[in-house]
Amino acid sequence: MSAARTAAKTASTAPATGPTLLWLRLDLRLADHPDLSGKPFQVFTPFWRKVSTGLDPGTPAPAPRRIPAPERWPDGQPLDALRLLPTLPWAEGFAGAWQPGEAGAARNLEAFLDGPVKDYGDRRNFPGERGTSRLSPHLHFGEVSPRQVWHAAPKWRTGQFMAEIGWREFAHHLLWHFPHTTDKPLRSDFERFPWRSDAAHLRAWQRGLTGVPMVDAGMRELWHTGWMHNRVRMVVGSFLVKNLRLHWLEGARWFWDTLVDADLASNTLGWQWCAGCGADAAPYFRVFNPESQAEKFDPEGSYVRRWVPEAATAAAGAKGGAYPAPIVDLKASRVAALEAFASLRK
Ligand SMILES: Cc1cc2nc3c(=O)[nH]c(=O)nc-3n(C[C@H](O)[C@H](O)[C@H](O)COP(=O)(O)OP(=O)(O)OC[C@H]3O[C@@H](n4cnc5c(N)ncnc54)[C@H](O)[C@@H]3O)c2cc1C
Repeated sequence: MSAARTAAKTASTAPATGPTLLWLRLDLRLADHPDLSGKPFQVFTPFWRKVSTGLDPGTPAPAPRRIPAPERWPDGQPLDALRLLPTLPWAEGFAGAWQPGEAGAARNLEAFLDGPVKDYGDRRNFPGERGTSRLSPHLHFGEVSPRQVWHAAPKWRTGQFMAEIGWREFAHHLLWHFPHTTDKPLRSDFERFPWRSDAAHLRAWQRGLTGVPMVDAGMRELWHTGWMHNRVRMVVGSFLVKNLRLHWLEGARWFWDTLVDADLASNTLGWQWCAGCGADAAPYFRVFNPESQAEKFDPEGSYVRRWVPEAATAAAGAKGGAYPAPIVDLKASRVAALEAFASLRK
């Protein structure tokens, strides 16, 4: 685990006292529910029902008028000496996609509440549209708090949007109770899973060169903007752990290094969900078909065309296109994945 992951892990598993979550009590247990068994929640719906209806997250505190400076500043270093900026211009595309800071967070929240929130339930799965809030990096870095969102959107507290914020709470709840899940599956039987190791396949996935357009579109969106639509995160995740049968930790590490919203709790939950080895996870037999996902959620092909224009040219039969053939057969790799997953039950 890298130093950054270790630091984030320590921060995420320390007792919560700040407003980065809606409810400060991360250690909610089923024991809080009189008729249940005293264990941490592992299924989202009862967790969310319990916290969202039973507890008031409180009002956001106003910004302090003054933050007192220390009497004597500790010795420091010039910012440049920390060499935080990349030497290769790999983050060039981020500037067009994000405005870091509170102003950018407020702008995204306002733009979302002005329109897309109304159709969020229907449109949040279409990656070619601006159907979601794009608040994740701002929430992660505390540029807007979930409490501010809760109070800015009272009308939507019971809807799907706030439930997604609830998944973030759930992720932190799980990481608090099961800190080992950053590296190990929550369901221990998965430790026996026969993962493959294939550097060329992993590299093709990371670079968006698998020859499967929906997967490559997502991986390129990630590389260029530091973000990927949730539906596509599930598609590329399923492709990595099921069709390629590469370890979910490979995906978690790549996301950790490339996402602007990289969050140890949500990333761990997301990857264990894809692999089927976490709490409330996708069943092992659910293998996303990236082609039918594209037909359903990118019916006009605008998302794929934007990120993988050469795939559209290749599909139209143009000669000399540079788009690769698929690195795996989707049907055969699905069958192999199902056999491997079934072997865990023996
Ligand atoms: C494999 C995988 C890895 C992921 N890694 C991360 C990660 O590192 N950081 C991260 O913030 N999210 C992660 N997610 C969850 C989700 O994809 C993003 O939170 C979402 O796409 C952010 O876009 P948005 O702000 O427009 O979301 P919206 O749909 O507008 O949702 C509002 C907020 O709710 C929270 N949220 C939404 N969906 C989820 C979810 N499934 N789990 C947890 N919180 C959620 C986010 O804070 C988000 O900003 C991951 C999902 C998967 C499948």
